[in-house]
Amino acid sequence: MCGIVGYVGKKSAPEFLLGALEKLEYRGYDSSGIAICNDKEKKDKVELIKKKGRIRVLRETVENFKDFFGKVGIGHTRWATHGEPSDINSHPHTGASGKIAVVHNGIIENYMILKKNLMQKGIKFASETDTEVVAVLADYLYDGDIFETVRKTALSLEGSFALGILCSDFPDRIIAVKKESPLILGFGNEENYIASDISAFADRTKKICRLDECEMAVIKNSEVSFYNFSGEKINKTITEIDWNIGSSEKNGFDHFMLKEIMEQPKAVKETLSARCSNNDILIDDLTKEYLENINKIYIVACGSSHHVGVAAKYAFEKLSKITTNTDLASEFRYRSPIIDEKTLVIIISQSGETADSLAALREAKHKGAKTLAVVNVVGSSIAAESDCVIYTWAGMEVAVATTKAYSAQLSVMYMLALHIAKILNKISKEKFEKHFNNLLNLPDLIEKTLEEKTKVFEIAKKYCQRDNVFFIGRNNDYAICMEGSLKFKEVSYIHSEAYPAGELKHGTISLIESGTLVIAVATNHKLFEKTISNVREVKARGAVCLALTTEDKREEIACVADDTICVPRIPPIMQPSLSVIPLQLFSYYVALLRERDIDRPRNLAKSVTVE
Ligand code: GLU
Repeated sequence: MCGIVGYVGKKSAPEFLLGALEKLEYRGYDSSGIAICNDKEKKDKVELIKKKGRIRVLRETVENFKDFFGKVGIGHTRWATHGEPSDINSHPHTGASGKIAVVHNGIIENYMILKKNLMQKGIKFASETDTEVVAVLADYLYDGDIFETVRKTALSLEGSFALGILCSDFPDRIIAVKKESPLILGFGNEENYIASDISAFADRTKKICRLDECEMAVIKNSEVSFYNFSGEKINKTITEIDWNIGSSEKNGFDHFMLKEIMEQPKAVKETLSARCSNNDILIDDLTKEYLENINKIYIVACGSSHHVGVAAKYAFEKLSKITTNTDLASEFRYRSPIIDEKTLVIIISQSGETADSLAALREAKHKGAKTLAVVNVVGSSIAAESDCVIYTWAGMEVAVATTKAYSAQLSVMYMLALHIAKILNKISKEKFEKHFNNLLNLPDLIEKTLEEKTKVFEIAKKYCQRDNVFFIGRNNDYAICMEGSLKFKEVSYIHSEAYPAGELKHGTISLIESGTLVIAVATNHKLFEKTISNVREVKARGAVCLALTTEDKREEIACVADDTICVPRIPPIMQPSLSVIPLQLFSYYVALLRERDIDRPRNLAKSVTVE
């Protein structure tokens, strides 16, 4: 997580840096800071301002400092991994001389050893962070050659690090270093930028270059040079991105989360249109020859993307009839998954930079598996490293809790399941057409489901004061419970759990007491009666039940549930695309009523680039 930015140009660095940090605030918002080489008078120290809290606090502070001016600078917005959010722990960090300032995204895994060694030499540390060791070590090694100093420092570090480094002796440049965490350079007109994510400078240039593993760059306003960690000069290609990141305005909505919930029909439509035409699905990379060699699929992801995988597993097994496993990326990479060249590993990630998912992708490739990425950010690391990629076209998602990217990912997974089934002749032409039409209908049906908004708000008012919520369902209704529960926790800060309805009686039911809210998702008609029995079991123990089912089951469920929300009925495999909508709205409204920081929930960040 964390966002780093840098500017070298002829205009005000603080102005650019503050704006860029605001765009990267989704990556972390514990604290922020900027460092500059002051232009007004030559100083032998970098100048910095850093503050605990949101970027607006930093902006206010910077704007109150009249002489804080420079044309070269670096900035940081933090999601703390080592050390509490505080002014002292905020980046940039400097060493004792104050000449070198460092911003960092990642984790320095050997920082304790390095810190101990430096402390034995009598060097003092100010913060609890891992990052400070980078600045202190560079300061210690500095001999007048900043490039060599940074290179030697980088070689001593273990872990993940994207670094932006400034030195007051070289006020015309910043040095960028990359290992594992993302770092992108932007090339403007007599100004150049670095950032963790293109959105930081996308309004200024579309010309970019990603640093690859163990690469460094020296960035001046009219010249950028690239090096490897051995110090050899390397050539890199500058590419022009054709990516409209979309609006980052709220457009009249109170929160990005609600705006993005309402944008889901468009996100799904654009995602499907990119691959569906003339009654067919176009995924050229997945040929018959390729697919005939696959005997197992792994869907690997984190958080909501993992829940997409869990929901999609049912569609994959039902349609394509290939054994499909889902796994959390952070688990997958550290066990010994049985995968080989006959395994297709599908990685799902909104940002395309999720550290655990990227590592899982590398592990899968290392074991010879074929890899496919489903990502929202064009040109991101996961997209670049996978054998093939299917983009979701959800546009920029600003709210930390994902909604439209989730729905777009789910639509890609249905499309994939259907495509594989067709290519491998696992379904008839008629069935393919039926499912294909259902797929294309999803945006309209999501639109219709969103009309329940006001009703969901009324129900949220009734239940927003509960402190414990259980989401129960069976099969892909359970998959939706997992996403519903995560969304609910993320934004409302209320404890909730998702449970397979049939599993409750094996332990969790002991937590049900008078007044516990149970949200039962029962859209699968084959399992409807079974789930209703589970609802009766919890009601018998004092629970109140909010049921989510299809329109045609409204009356039947009303006999057992205290409240009911209905969604249009479609064939069960695609039903999650509709069922998730009321649960997103419910989470949003409960969070609103409990006055939570909806778009920036506490302790969270969006693009998880640390392990
Ligand atoms: N480890 C650094 C810190 O805690 C950077 C964290 C990050 O990149 O998320 O300050």
